[in-house]
Amino acid sequence: MTNQSKKEFLWVSDLSAEQLRVMRDHGTEPPGSSPLNYETRSGIYYCAGCHTPLFHGDMKYDSGCGWPAFFTVIDNAVETEIDHSHHMVRTEVHCAKCKAHLGHVFPDGPQPTGERYCINGISLKFKKEES
Ligand SMILES: [Zn+2]
Repeated sequence: MTNQSKKEFLWVSDLSAEQLRVMRDHGTEPPGSSPLNYETRSGIYYCAGCHTPLFHGDMKYDSGCGWPAFFTVIDNAVETEIDHSHHMVRTEVHCAKCKAHLGHVFPDGPQPTGERYCINGISLKFKKEES
């Protein structure tokens, strides 16, 4: 069966080459390139791959790092694993549902969590809250 794994990779057809590079191949978008760096409205940030809600707008803060940053995440929306690439030890963050690579989490965020989820904007879709 040639389409045996079609369901698993259903999201792939919706994505640009750059999104695939980041989300499937653990790439990184250029710093400062995402319009979501400047997004401050309330709303929900969804996984660009499977549309699972990952972050609320009120979890976002301006870290100045060049990528959208969040100090926490919606419960159980993401999974992490230790990433030894680029001669660094970092904690990789991916979507718990479709496993798309999102970014990394660092222990230098604001209180109360002390965490900084540094996320590729290209891996997210933002939908502002209807008022
Ligand atoms: Zn996903």
